[in-house]
Amino acid sequence: MSGKALCDLCGLALPARPWTLTTAQASLRFCCEGCEGIYRMLNNIPDDPAPTDSAPPTSGDDPWTTPR
Ligand SMILES: [Zn+2]
Repeated sequence: MSGKALCDLCGLALPARPWTLTTAQASLRFCCEGCEGIYRMLNNIPDDPAPTDSAPPTSGDDPWTTPR
């Protein structure tokens, strides 16, 4: 809450609208899309994380409801 916010990857000052990334561990901010991408790569974070992990992936071919 004090001082200026810095990029969580390279340490540069953040722009007015920083790139944000929320992980299970922390909420991070980056100065640019590149920093965010690199951080994701280093930490194996998917490009578009699902907001909730409670919903199972639907294949659209449910064996219980699909008529033969
Ligand atoms: Zn950066």
